[in-house]
Amino acid sequence: MLTSDSKARYARQMLLPEVGPGGQEKLGKSSVLIIGLGGLGSPAAYYLAAAGIGRLGLVDSDYVEVSNLNRQILHFTPDVKKMKTKSAAEKINQLNPEVTLETYNCHMDKQQLLDILPQYDFVIEATDNFSSKYAISDACVTSGKAFCHAGITGYEGQAFTYVPKQSCGCFRCLFPESPHPVKMPDKATGTVLGTVPGIMGTIQATEAIKYLLAIGDLLLNRLLIYNAKQMKMRIVHFSPSAKCPVCRKQKRFA
Ligand SMILES: [Zn+2]
Repeated sequence: MLTSDSKARYARQMLLPEVGPGGQEKLGKSSVLIIGLGGLGSPAAYYLAAAGIGRLGLVDSDYVEVSNLNRQILHFTPDVKKMKTKSAAEKINQLNPEVTLETYNCHMDKQQLLDILPQYDFVIEATDNFSSKYAISDACVTSGKAFCHAGITGYEGQAFTYVPKQSCGCFRCLFPESPHPVKMPDKATGTVLGTVPGIMGTIQATEAIKYLLAIGDLLLNRLLIYNAKQMKMRIVHFSPSAKCPVCRKQKRFA
């Protein structure tokens, strides 16, 4: 049952017929793992906490640097040199103390991911490098876990959602490991307009809420590409690939 505080806090979204008190209770019983507490993970974490997701897992091995602050809005100037997990947990606690937080101050490899994924309903893949993106996608496909990917570079961002069903493509289906058809800079050289991950991380949180409440159409087999310079969004359709070694192993092409 929702408390009177919760009824007031979530009143505006509970008025949505697809949400209602039942949907709000469902969100309260849901859990989302956010991997990466930078430009994408910041807005995703804020909106998921604000929406009343019951439990959030926060993963990052980095410390806050001053050069993060143009886009990683979980972290404030006094947080420089603080662990990102600690900085993030402090902000989310202030925004919504009802949310239970689990912090993981580490870089998760595929085995660690496989161990932890069963504890969560949905994964936000908010990392900034290819090796993590492949590892998270592979672990989610192997575990049968839904996730939303996003990536950013310069003025452009992209996102899609994966759910564990036969007809849904994964990150490796879309971007076979080599050669990389898209450029994604590493964090040392990456350029980015700070608002671009703000948009893309917000889209990831939206996909998570829609998935948890079974609302509307997710970005399945659809790569959404946002260009801030032209202020355009377009969709590129893709399919699960029979050549994808991870999907093939799961007998998704029986
Ligand atoms: Zn695949």
